[in-house]
Amino acid sequence: MTEPRLTDLRAKLAKLTDLGHTGAVLGWDQETYLPAGATEARAHQLATLAGLSHSLQTDMALGALLGELSADDSLDETDRALVRIAKHDRDLATRLPERLVTELAEAESLGLEAWRQARETSDFARFAPALERLVELNREKAARLADPGTAPYDALLDLHEPGLTMAELDPVFGRLEAGTVALLREVVERGIDPDDSFLYRTFPADDQLAIATEIVGALGFDLERGRIDLTTHPFCTTFSSTDVRLTTRIHENDLRSCLFGLIHEAGHGMYEQGIDPHFDRTPLGSGASMGIHESQSLLWENLVGRSRPFWEWAFPLLCRRFPEQLSDIDADKFQRGTNRIRPSLNRVESDELTYNLHILLRYRIERGLFDGSVAVADIPQLWNDGMRDGLGIDVPSDRDGCLQDIHWAMGAFGYFPSYTLGKLYGAMLFEAARRDLPTLDDQLARGEFAPLLGWLRDKVHRHGRAKTTGEMIREATGEDLSEVAFLRHLRARIDQLATA
Ligand code: ZN
Repeated sequence: MTEPRLTDLRAKLAKLTDLGHTGAVLGWDQETYLPAGATEARAHQLATLAGLSHSLQTDMALGALLGELSADDSLDETDRALVRIAKHDRDLATRLPERLVTELAEAESLGLEAWRQARETSDFARFAPALERLVELNREKAARLADPGTAPYDALLDLHEPGLTMAELDPVFGRLEAGTVALLREVVERGIDPDDSFLYRTFPADDQLAIATEIVGALGFDLERGRIDLTTHPFCTTFSSTDVRLTTRIHENDLRSCLFGLIHEAGHGMYEQGIDPHFDRTPLGSGASMGIHESQSLLWENLVGRSRPFWEWAFPLLCRRFPEQLSDIDADKFQRGTNRIRPSLNRVESDELTYNLHILLRYRIERGLFDGSVAVADIPQLWNDGMRDGLGIDVPSDRDGCLQDIHWAMGAFGYFPSYTLGKLYGAMLFEAARRDLPTLDDQLARGEFAPLLGWLRDKVHRHGRAKTTGEMIREATGEDLSEVAFLRHLRARIDQLATA
């Protein structure tokens, strides 16, 4: 009975996955080429697809099949993972009543609209009622998703980082914060402040896109199985392991945006391209968690792309494109400039060190919203106090403060921690790769990225969702989640910047 059941299950899951990826194509198109007048038509198309997915996902026959196969101990490891993941996804879908799903969708679209207006006028009060509604609905969602006896916020964390709880996260984040604050104080006291003014000279858009494309191609992003387009907000989206789309944006007076942005998205893209092709058209064919996904983008962007060996190779390429703009700069000066540490108002623009302080503050406020200790109306004050105490920055307006991020407006709670987890996982994986590949720095300096990519493919990419993040990290590094490798990386970076 096992084989016919598995065939039946795979057919059902293939349909579901196809619907999901079709929605992703429409979503990608909406961000890149959709004419402005077609937004409403597109919303209908996406809603229809979402409805179809929901009915397939909650179909009783699928539930029965998964029940039978869960009890079948003749399955091999991959099929067991397939059944486990499919059951997990179905359980989540069935725990939320249709009424709540519809109310959430409406609250999210109203939330986005209110957030845009509030941000424009820098007036948090205009966003507050919509945010209150979103928090209320997400409290209900969390309560329905949570297993008995567990904290509702853990159920929201689980949506982005399966299995992770506040109890595990809090001590790690606590030590990370203490370490970060100490390092920041040191950077200020020692006056470590490399010049980065050359990054803001004028670099024509076409040349920026050409060099960034050349670099991500060399890193290993396969343009035969992917493409690159322009959007306001960069992202990576996947339709199959043979079709991975990246987007980027270009500022002619800021060399960082397109170059590092595209390396970041290519890190996501190479992960998706490296998933075992046998997992195509199944729920195993995507990343294991948001945090592990972010570890891949950050590893390439920061640990490779801002390292001294990397610029040994990349700087001559850059100079060929921009000989005049960079005539007075060398690889060393360039690499130092890309690592300048300076507290900033804006999360997305902040450096490797201070970035996490933004996330820790978001996490604290978010938890408070769900345990009842924080009211929506308190958010601006909490944000401003946190920025002053943690980063020494006075926030001039809500627009540059608590209203800068879109996540809560679209109902994404429990998401922010993934960014910091990505930094921690990325540093752990890079240390392990360095141990396994003793000549890694020399390889990077010669533009040989295949050994590192091969290592990541083997330890992370190919597994898709068949292994959990915890299993992959333990097997690749021999350790559980911790802040130690990341703080060690920052220590080394600061010491490098300090030696002139
Ligand atoms: Zn990312």
